Amino acid sequence: MPRSRTTHQYKALGSALRKMPPFFSAEQLRIAAEAAPVKGDTSGDTSACKRQDASRQARSMGIATVYRFLRDKKRTGEVRSYLCNRKTVYTTSKMSHCHFVCEKTGEVIHFDVDSLDFMQEKIPGTISSFQIEVRGTCEECVSDMRARSRRNPAASAKKKNQEE
Ligand SMILES: [Zn+2]
Ligand SMILES: [Zn+2]
Repeated sequence: MPRSRTTHQYKALGSALRKMPPFFSAEQLRIAAEAAPVKGDTSGDTSACKRQDASRQARSMGIATVYRFLRDKKRTGEVRSYLCNRKTVYTTSKMSHCHFVCEKTGEVIHFDVDSLDFMQEKIPGTISSFQIEVRGTCEECVSDMRARSRRNPAASAKKKNQEE
């Protein structure tokens, strides 16, 4: 692959990277980079023809290029990756990716951890990122179960009436 093409693609990916949501997939980044306007060439090519050609190529980039770009960015610490629903998601801003999994429905609810203080004192080093999964019963299921137990037990209702 010619160097200038890679440079163009990396430039498009770099500017797309700054506009991504907190968590994004490699495919989302590829789409954003392809849609991003590619500015005039600055890598040394002077002909307008070559310039156009390069920017067109930058627009249709393979997913392998995106993965290579993300791998490079991970190495420099600009990008972090997490596993979400068996898919890899990437971020430039978040130090953590946290799941609360409802054991009744299997639903995954995302939440943020704002302070690392509770963990830092347990870790023999510095933290760059972490991913946690907490399991339990979500609020919806809890209130569902409460409503059901309020409606159902005739026996305990009868008992209550007698007591009154
Ligand atoms: Zn997730
Ligand atoms: Zn639930």
